[in-house]
Amino acid sequence: MPYEIESSCAACRQGDRFMIGNWPEHLGVYVCSVCKALTNISVETPKCPGCGQLVEPQDCYDYSFAIPYLGGQFLREPEPGPNCPKCGQGPLAFENNVHLNMGMVVGNREKAQATWGKDHVEKAIFMNATIPVIEEFQLDPRRVFAYFNLDLPSRPLITRRLSFPIILDIRTHLGTTLMTSPEELGCTMSTEEVMRLLFGDREL
Ligand SMILES: [Zn+2]
Ligand SMILES: [Zn+2]
Repeated sequence: MPYEIESSCAACRQGDRFMIGNWPEHLGVYVCSVCKALTNISVETPKCPGCGQLVEPQDCYDYSFAIPYLGGQFLREPEPGPNCPKCGQGPLAFENNVHLNMGMVVGNREKAQATWGKDHVEKAIFMNATIPVIEEFQLDPRRVFAYFNLDLPSRPLITRRLSFPIILDIRTHLGTTLMTSPEELGCTMSTEEVMRLLFGDREL
């Protein structure tokens, strides 16, 4: 599910590259006014990699409604990004062209478990994005959370928003898992039922 994102500013034509979706590794995306850049903050060392200042989970930028799916697809007009940290002359826009392997997230059990009991923006967006897919496929949320090495939150999350690219990615991933090894998700649907849910009621 991770994606590599590029930001761009219409005024100064500069931008940065960062990732979204890799919640076991990243607290989220941070707009650093000292470094004049957007950057990922590591969960293990929650400091700006450029200037070293400490970043709290609530200081991360919630990109949910501003970053489109691959090739710019979006359900509605994206919300404007944050003000350009390089020139301060206008909001950033985002481009999403690179999809990275989901194994990076699913296979990272140790780092995922190290975040248990703690909340951060990248993880909250991911958790929120599982909900429509759990509902659509009628899955047991506990099984899905266990599959992704997520902990069940005990209080409201730092953000309640959903990211469209991350929902689609979770949907593709869980759909594939349902077709190949449904027992991992405790699901009893047949392959045909999964195909119908994924692609609709048309002839394949
Ligand atoms: Zn700019
Ligand atoms: Zn910095």
